[in-house]
Amino acid sequence: MGLALHFPLRFEDKATIAAMDSISVGQKVNLNVTVTAQEVVRGRRKQLKVWAEDGDSQILLRWLHFYPGQAEKMPVGARLKVSGQIRQGYGTLEIVHPTVARLSPAEEAQVERSATPQSGTLEPVYPSGAQLKQSDWQRWIKQIPPECFTDTIPAQTLKKNGLLAWDETLKTLHGQAQPEQINALNGRSHPAWERVKLDELLAQQLLLRQYRLEKQKEKAPEIGSRNKTLQNEFLDQLAFDLTGAQQKALKEILADMTKPFPMQRLLQGDVGSGKTVVAALACLQAVESGFQAAFLAPTEVLAEQHFYKLSQLFKRIGVTCARLQGSMKAKEKKQVLEQLQSGELSIVIGTHALFQSTVEFKNLALVVVDEQHRFGVEQRLSLISKANDNQLAHQLMMSATPIPRTLAQTYLSDLSVSNLDEKPPGRQPILTKLVSQDKREQLMSAIETELNKKQQVYWVCPLIEESEKLDLQAAEATAQELSEALPHRKVALLHGKQDSATKQATMLAFAQGEIEVLVSTTVIEVGVDVSNASLMVIDQAERFGLAQLHQLRGRVGRGSIQSVCVLLYGKPLSQTAKTRLKAMHESDDGFYLAEIDLEIRGPGELLGKRQSGLPMLRYSDPLIDKQWVELARLIAQDMPVGDINTKRHIQRWLESTPWWLS
Ligand code: ADP
Ligand code: MG
Repeated sequence: MGLALHFPLRFEDKATIAAMDSISVGQKVNLNVTVTAQEVVRGRRKQLKVWAEDGDSQILLRWLHFYPGQAEKMPVGARLKVSGQIRQGYGTLEIVHPTVARLSPAEEAQVERSATPQSGTLEPVYPSGAQLKQSDWQRWIKQIPPECFTDTIPAQTLKKNGLLAWDETLKTLHGQAQPEQINALNGRSHPAWERVKLDELLAQQLLLRQYRLEKQKEKAPEIGSRNKTLQNEFLDQLAFDLTGAQQKALKEILADMTKPFPMQRLLQGDVGSGKTVVAALACLQAVESGFQAAFLAPTEVLAEQHFYKLSQLFKRIGVTCARLQGSMKAKEKKQVLEQLQSGELSIVIGTHALFQSTVEFKNLALVVVDEQHRFGVEQRLSLISKANDNQLAHQLMMSATPIPRTLAQTYLSDLSVSNLDEKPPGRQPILTKLVSQDKREQLMSAIETELNKKQQVYWVCPLIEESEKLDLQAAEATAQELSEALPHRKVALLHGKQDSATKQATMLAFAQGEIEVLVSTTVIEVGVDVSNASLMVIDQAERFGLAQLHQLRGRVGRGSIQSVCVLLYGKPLSQTAKTRLKAMHESDDGFYLAEIDLEIRGPGELLGKRQSGLPMLRYSDPLIDKQWVELARLIAQDMPVGDINTKRHIQRWLESTPWWLS
């Protein structure tokens, strides 16, 4: 089947012979001509020139690279079929490096007989690895089995929406298109392409619905939400009130948790929007109902920080909480495992260590996954499967890498999403400055000023080299440079290769204000929360992706003071780097930046297959094909679940499982 959906990259018109008096500059043409003269020009730039004519019109064929003997193949008087793009030469039209074929006697005879241009079908050019020839593709395509041509969309739906039939679509794209369709085909606006885009998007819609229904057959513990004592006590401890967005998200989450099937909810919120508190309250609801909750973080630094912040709050309201991470001592770990099994512990905060089979719960009911895109589908599944009685735990995923609206519509149409679209009050927008590397020294005095105000500074070094060792050396050199430039300041280095005790100690010292400048590799990318840090320098900012830059910048601007983010860049900048840095300078809206990112990179990279679980869209682009997304959604409603055409359609296009449903 895959073969039938392997469509050409472009089409070439090898058959239509243009009349010389009707051609124009820029056009790609085939011509039948007679050679009138030729010359090999020697000198600084060697070239082969062949003059040819068709009726009264002349054309120059020109080669800047040619092999010995090539001229002999085009003697004066020879009849040639030449193809290529018409250019304006000196006083004459020309084709540089045309493809040339001597006309066979039969073809010549035909040319003699008919003065009108002949035509045939367009030749598809397939995307292909270096080893495969177009002729191979063309041979295979002929072997597409007949069932592949069956239409899956009812005839009246096709008619109503002016859609091309599926068999015609396949035939057109696989080599039966007429020359006059070439522009529509190469511009992908031909009805055959429209049908392909629609079908691809429709497959996504159908698959999402199917998974959603299957998921609802799974069982999960019902978490009644009547009693809110723990939540209220927790809220009383906080120095702030929840924002409207937080309250709304929490309500949506708690409602899902009362259902007898597993929650699959994504809590999206820009960096600093306050997702952690919402998740903590959801955990407390599980505890209130007598269940346990697990809080999963992608790095030890982050798990540590969540634990540091939350455990104190939990402790004060009598909720037990512990951490579990790989680097803990065996004895300590053993104790946590025992307490999880006995139910002595209500909440566990941990890293990948939570997946291990030795981790057993008394009655796990909720799993919170922070920075969900850092985890694989199987990993999350292994954790939510630790609920009792073949049930699955409810799953609350959190992400600060907002999925742009346009993508969400196609990929997440059936996943529940809560958005924290309102920042906690009192935050000042972060000022983003673009600073060139040659102003590095001036930057040091700006840092000094910031430190004088008792503020703290992050300095992020990029990962550049293939080798982590070299990156580390670069980070170490930067820490050294800063220590020297700021002699009386406490500068410390944090990087991924340090043992976790060192990392924790450094983070804690920074959080408590003992370290003034924290030089780090991208380990601080996710989640770190030190509200007294007000200046962030991102060294070699041109090397970072847009999402990453935004994430990093979000580490400042967490208190009520004016924060600054300096993007330190080296010249020359590539066009994409320029676009990225400019976008960062202009906006701190994560959704807007994600849209720009999508434009720069395309959905493939942003929502890689591992993340989306869906095979990537090959022919449609939700950004451009919004109308087809819409139509696909409407048509999906008319295709019953389990119907033969529904099944066939899904099978035709897609096989694997999306991440949020497994
Ligand atoms: P993120 O969504 O990036 O994970 P956090 O949960 O780390 O954000 O919250 C960022 C900071 O904002 C934390 O210091 C948190 O205590 C604080 N915060 C969260 N909610 C509010 C609120 N409603 N009002 C004021 N500050 C808040
Ligand atoms: Mg966070």
